[in-house]
Amino acid sequence: MDKIQIKDIKVNEILDSREEKTIEIILVNKNGKEAKSQIPKGKSTGSKEAVSLGYEKAKENSKKILKELSEKDFGSISEIDNFLIELDGTENKSNLGGDLTLGISISFARLLAQEKQKELWEVLKGEFFKNEAGSTPPHIFANMINGGEHAENNLAFQEYIVVAKTENGVKNATENLINFYNNLKETLKEKTGLSEIPLGDEAGFCVSLKNSEEPFFVLEKLIKENFSESDFKLATDIAGNSFYKDGKYTIDKKEYDSPSLVKYYKSLFEKVDLLFSIEDPFYENDTEAFLSLKNSLSCEKIIVGDDLTTTNKKEIEKNKEKISGVIIKANQIGTLTETMEAIKTAHKNNIKTIISHRSGETDDCFLVHIAKASNAYGVKIGPPARERLLKYEELEKIYT
Ligand code: PEP
Ligand code: MG
Repeated sequence: MDKIQIKDIKVNEILDSREEKTIEIILVNKNGKEAKSQIPKGKSTGSKEAVSLGYEKAKENSKKILKELSEKDFGSISEIDNFLIELDGTENKSNLGGDLTLGISISFARLLAQEKQKELWEVLKGEFFKNEAGSTPPHIFANMINGGEHAENNLAFQEYIVVAKTENGVKNATENLINFYNNLKETLKEKTGLSEIPLGDEAGFCVSLKNSEEPFFVLEKLIKENFSESDFKLATDIAGNSFYKDGKYTIDKKEYDSPSLVKYYKSLFEKVDLLFSIEDPFYENDTEAFLSLKNSLSCEKIIVGDDLTTTNKKEIEKNKEKISGVIIKANQIGTLTETMEAIKTAHKNNIKTIISHRSGETDDCFLVHIAKASNAYGVKIGPPARERLLKYEELEKIYT
């Protein structure tokens, strides 16, 4: 196959699901063929994430990159990504912007897919996961009740998640989740007396309840009374960075140090028996607390890193004893190649991967293709509502 030569990089400013500005990147090859990508944006971020520089800088930097690209051609995603990584020269893409480098990386992969008449996931699998056997649909992590930085309510924890198993297919899991979401809306209306329940950043419900534990009981009760426990389990993203300050965590106006927070979570797992996965239970540098919690829970419970690990293979390697699951967000690192390296590092260490959206999402469904290519354990894509539905549709399309 001929290598791909880039003739133009177009940068557009678009709005994400929170109506905040982000960018869209269109690459044009020498034959005039185009491929597009749109970059999501997080709000509760880890300090080691790749930097997003926004539209003006992306436009300026795209001209510099184009000049460097003019005589080059690339036959693989890693070739162009390594070129971008070298040109940027920083740990966090602060020269070129991780939003721009990821946009170029994904659009290039799509040009390659067009050229080979393949799907994006096939090209990713072909280059990075050739020997990965099987392609079972991932568990779907659907954030049903929003708290923390994603919602204006009294809940300290960011995400109260229903996890749908997909053994009976993606369509069946999606239908179950839609059913659950509608049931939950009615339950919350009854509980709060509100006639309408507002939504948080990820399209989960945004309500104030008795305390930050209560949503778990509401979700568990609904599953046990109206659904099958073999269809759903529960997970949470605590987003520990967001309520940590000066060595203390504040939950429901009460302060906890790390050992007392470990005890709090241990008792939470005892009280909520469907709860099996906890993401970022502590502040990103409180790494001993991660280990202490992992050691105090049974091995079926999953401790997940997100702000802790920021899709960075070095951070995953460094923290491998402290976690059993990891969130993968391509824009935390800024290229597809490094995203795939992070996934490989996790899989090599028996750490489950959950490919995730951001709270500010776009129409782009590249995350679903990353999940299929790498045979990931899960996808975290919000509930099947509003803009989040697109990811469900793409899942259904590529797994049938
Ligand atoms: C998360 O913390 O897992 C998340 C999806 O939120 P954000 O995109 O705001 O980082
Ligand atoms: Mg998170």
